[in-house]
Amino acid sequence: MLKVDQEWIARAEAQYPGLRKTIYSWDAMDLPPCPLCGSANTAKVSAGLVGRSLHLAAATTKIRLLANGYPADCYCNQCGRYFDGPDSGNAQTIGARTK
Ligand SMILES: [Zn+2]
Repeated sequence: MLKVDQEWIARAEAQYPGLRKTIYSWDAMDLPPCPLCGSANTAKVSAGLVGRSLHLAAATTKIRLLANGYPADCYCNQCGRYFDGPDSGNAQTIGARTK
């Protein structure tokens, strides 16, 4: 889900060329729902706290930035817990854990 408007994206794009495309591709990402609370409001965990990533994280709810380390693949924006998503296909989520 996008958290910013077109004007914000245009400004970010001016600062980081190509960012608009990155934002949209992240925002369109199909992520597994949270196995703990069932929410579809989930994010993919990514490392790196550089300007570009920070702008990306400010723009869409689908990325969860961490300075280092991956407690799990995915993060639930609803209940605030990390969980491992399926690698591919329809496998259901396993190994949910909290942090
Ligand atoms: Zn949840």
